[in-house]
Amino acid sequence: MAEDHRADKRADNQDERRSGERERAIAWLDEKWTGSRACPICGTVQWTITEAVEIRPWEEGNLVFSGGSGTYPLFQLICNNCAFTRLFNAVMSGVTPTPPEVAEDREAIDGD
Ligand SMILES: [Zn+2]
Repeated sequence: MAEDHRADKRADNQDERRSGERERAIAWLDEKWTGSRACPICGTVQWTITEAVEIRPWEEGNLVFSGGSGTYPLFQLICNNCAFTRLFNAVMSGVTPTPPEVAEDREAIDGD
């Protein structure tokens, strides 16, 4: 029973986080997207914005979680007609919080 309750709460927290990410992505795009909103493939202007997803560096088919093999959080903008997909850095746009190791790397780069 307690396990079910924790799973429900975890699912609620995930839904809230994803919803917040989509809302921040919409607000960020409203500010930054000043050019044409037409899809470059089909011309449609209807897009779906996703919650943050991640991509990883290619590690010859292996799933590597350490050794400097980080992930890149992105949010997607997907054309509702032809599925053309645009990717945006979710950290730089403020859609997701900056992971501590990224903040440290940025300080090291900025501080040289
Ligand atoms: Zn399209």
